[in-house]
Amino acid sequence: MDVELEEKACPFCGQLIMCGHDVKPERLCRCADAVRYAADAETLEDMQTLLDELFGENCPDCSKSFIPVGPEELSALNHVIVLVSAGLFTKAVITLQDGSQCIVKKDAVTRKITIKR
Ligand SMILES: [Zn+2]
Repeated sequence: MDVELEEKACPFCGQLIMCGHDVKPERLCRCADAVRYAADAETLEDMQTLLDELFGENCPDCSKSFIPVGPEELSALNHVIVLVSAGLFTKAVITLQDGSQCIVKKDAVTRKITIKR
């Protein structure tokens, strides 16, 4: 398969990088700022994957007590993750309609359920 490569400039250091059409040069450049950016972007992606696993359609696979949340809640939680990941907040605790909590920290997303007896 032929992959078309383009020459793009790293926004941090200006170095020209050969990368695929939908790849950002800052994800491939080896300068210090780009490496930090790539690591942050990867952390964010991991958190978004985790968010989907814990709150998305297939969350009962993680725990039978998990109830999937609606697309609006999922999108709102995703905003929170982006903000925490960007360093605006150090921690966010959101209580959902079902009473479970979404706890977001710099590189972690957890879902906590309190079972009422
Ligand atoms: Zn660079």
